[in-house]
Amino acid sequence: MSAKGDTFYAWTKSSDIKGECGGAVISILKYALENKIVDMVLTVRKGVDIYDPLPAFITDPAELASCAGSLHCGTLLLPKLIKKYLDGARNMKIAVTVKGCDAKAMYELGKRNQINMDNIFMIGLNCGGSVSPQIARKMIAEKYGIDPDDVVKEEIDKGQFIVITKDGQHKGISIDELEEVGLGRRPNCQRCETKIPRQADIVCGNWGVVGDKAGKATFVEICSSKGAKLFDGAVSAGAIDTCAPDAKGLAIRSKIENVMINLGKKHQEKQFASLGSGAKRLGFIKGEASRCIKCYNCIEQCPICYCNECSTKKPHLVRPGLIPPDFMFHLIRFSHVSDSCVNCGQCQELCPMDIPNALVMHSLQVEMQNLFGYVPGYDMQLPVLAYVEEAAERKRLADTGSDQIFNIFTDNEE
Ligand code: FAD
Ligand code: SF4
Ligand code: SF4
Ligand code: SF4
Ligand code: SF4
Repeated sequence: MSAKGDTFYAWTKSSDIKGECGGAVISILKYALENKIVDMVLTVRKGVDIYDPLPAFITDPAELASCAGSLHCGTLLLPKLIKKYLDGARNMKIAVTVKGCDAKAMYELGKRNQINMDNIFMIGLNCGGSVSPQIARKMIAEKYGIDPDDVVKEEIDKGQFIVITKDGQHKGISIDELEEVGLGRRPNCQRCETKIPRQADIVCGNWGVVGDKAGKATFVEICSSKGAKLFDGAVSAGAIDTCAPDAKGLAIRSKIENVMINLGKKHQEKQFASLGSGAKRLGFIKGEASRCIKCYNCIEQCPICYCNECSTKKPHLVRPGLIPPDFMFHLIRFSHVSDSCVNCGQCQELCPMDIPNALVMHSLQVEMQNLFGYVPGYDMQLPVLAYVEEAAERKRLADTGSDQIFNIFTDNEE
């Protein structure tokens, strides 16, 4: 019997499953669906090409093998799909693959009663980062000298982004080198600190698989009793085989995780500094927001935005019919979302005007975290604003005549 904190090398026992590493993820998902532990699997499959990952809503276990493998050139965030299209898993059990940002979005939606977490099985994936499809195509054409349409597989290994073409050519370039010239991983992925999402029920990856199992096994860590039961069931049913991880492999995995977390912090420092501070930062944000065409994509995609009556659509707050919208449009989002932003990058990646929304929101979130200690997406604790008792707060404001709880736009450069 496994328990929270246990680690394994695991691999599929099915010759039909050609997994990214050991194929343990697909095998566990298949076991869960076949044995009616879940009603549906929500995962990702290749669309027209490797730059087009699609959400896959699967109820037939036979379809799962076609989803094996990792797609790094995409921007999908799955939890909001559960809220939007699957009634927040109120009446069905769903197993879902989650990167760090997915796992954090799931927790934020779960604690707001938008997803029924009791019905969710999260299969976590370690995540070194993902690349936007446009950037992937540009860098493959310009830096690799390869036609992006000739690429049949991409992978991230030992700090390199590697592409494999249809005629078998392999070419890798260091991610650091790509990022120095504005290519490589999405900016939010560069800033990300959630590399092994232990919020999931089990978490899987290739870091730490060494020796004769390298490339042939999945490294699995058990993160909850629900995950332990699922994993043990898959072993007992003969879906996967396991062995204890190599001690050297365990140490390597932990070292890589720490290095990646520190790298994320460094990128935060650098990218946040590019915004300036105080009035300069406000000027920068206003300048960027002046391109906004009020398409609502940022709201539509954000896992923290789910309100039936969005304040940005209230005429007394944001005047209708104006492009760009009043700056209040953005201020509303900053005030409603910034404490809980999970840095998923959706609001930036999918903004048609390339406004660096996620960068601004993440920078605000980190400031809020430093002030109030709330870390979004890590546990089921409620955000700071959820504790504000409105009547008491109104009285406090009336008594003090001030609504300055903290002043993020004070020019502190002087
Ligand atoms: P498989 O049995 O092949 O199953 C993989 C599952 O992942 C499938 O269900 C597939 O649909 C799903 N999937 C594929 N792409 C996505 C996606 N974009 N979002 C959500 N689900 C997806 N592991 C590391 O140890 N280090 C890393 O740096 C690392 N970076 C990763 C970055 C990304 C963007 C992704 C998606 C995965 C990353 N992984 C990383 C995890 C690793 O690539 C494998 O997914 C994991 O080891 C499981 O292997 P497997 O053979 O058991 O998976
Ligand atoms: Fe992975 Fe983090 Fe980027 Fe999400 S934000 S895709 S978890 S690196
Ligand atoms: Fe404005 Fe971009 Fe949001 Fe659209 S996605 S409303 S253009 S900020
Ligand atoms: Fe993701 Fe942007 Fe929402 Fe933050 S504000 S959670 S980056 S969509
Ligand atoms: Fe809700 Fe505010 Fe997001 Fe609108 S901007 S959906 S009101 S959180």
